[in-house]
Amino acid sequence: MQEFSRKILAWFDSHGRKGLPWQQQKTPYRIWVAEIMLQQTRVATVIPYFEKFIRCFPDVYTLAKAADDEVMSYWTGLGYYARARNLHRCAIQVVEKYHGEFPDTQDKLQTLPGIGRSTAGAILSQAFGKRGIILDGNVKRVLSRHAAISGWPGQAAVTQQLWRLAEQLTPNHRPDAYTQAIMDLGSLVCRRRQPECTVCPLFESCQARRQRLIGQIPGRKPKRLLPQKTTRVMILRNGEKILLEKRPPVGIWGGLWSLPETDAALSQQATEKILHDRHGVNITTIEKLRSFEHTFSHFRLRIEPWLIDTSTMHNRIQEPGRQWYDFHELSKIGMPGPVSRLLTRLVPAVECR
Ligand code: SF4
Repeated sequence: MQEFSRKILAWFDSHGRKGLPWQQQKTPYRIWVAEIMLQQTRVATVIPYFEKFIRCFPDVYTLAKAADDEVMSYWTGLGYYARARNLHRCAIQVVEKYHGEFPDTQDKLQTLPGIGRSTAGAILSQAFGKRGIILDGNVKRVLSRHAAISGWPGQAAVTQQLWRLAEQLTPNHRPDAYTQAIMDLGSLVCRRRQPECTVCPLFESCQARRQRLIGQIPGRKPKRLLPQKTTRVMILRNGEKILLEKRPPVGIWGGLWSLPETDAALSQQATEKILHDRHGVNITTIEKLRSFEHTFSHFRLRIEPWLIDTSTMHNRIQEPGRQWYDFHELSKIGMPGPVSRLLTRLVPAVECR
């Protein structure tokens, strides 16, 4: 066991990542923001988001006081928006319950919104230098290959086995370096495809390599055909303004500003009537743009965008949750990635964060 961590730490000292933005000034706040962003997201993608986020919200008090929309705007394009909502709720709780100081125990960290077992372990080790156990996707891959644990790591029995292994292998010595090291090893060397076994510090002891099972481990998630849904989104434009609606707080794209939608099966005439009744607009032109697909974890969404120029903006549009935004304001609000990309393409003045 000690041999395992010794090899990984030695590898880390010469090859691990040490210059990541959140590794400078390792405060619990910065580590926590980074860990939440890194959930299901690659390091290279996270870096620019992290830097902008920290510039705008340099500490937990600033974040706790911020408006929802502002926080969401810094998450546009990063996906999994529940993370941003939980991040904001968590900041508020840390300020209210813990006077702005993150707790330094596994149990207390796990009571905070958005912090699960592995994220709490990462914060404990990275921010407090305590022995925290982590088991993210990269670590699961290294551990399951090294011990030749077949089966999909998402299965409860496999996950439990991996947690037991992670517990046994995590050292008391240099826990912060060890957690970073095993994450780095998974993302830089023991990659999902074409791992670089010849430069891996676990080359000798790795059971998957010895048994020629690398291609089969970790096991794949059982395939299921994702259902497809279709929606029609309306880009209602009036001069330099676009109509947006705030989505309900829970569910897909919860709390984000998005485009009005209608049933894609409706005729153009029926759609025009709905737009007039619901939004009080007079339509001048309609352009049906090329549709595209966005994949969520549990379904695929076919999006049919219609670009609609209007000549009037009815007063009742200014209801809560429904608003005409100037093009230049769009970068200040949280929008789903596909919507922000669509608008950026159509309206060059729109530059999302
Ligand atoms: S030897 Fe290869 S498969 Fe085994 S842990 Fe190292 S990189 Fe991964």
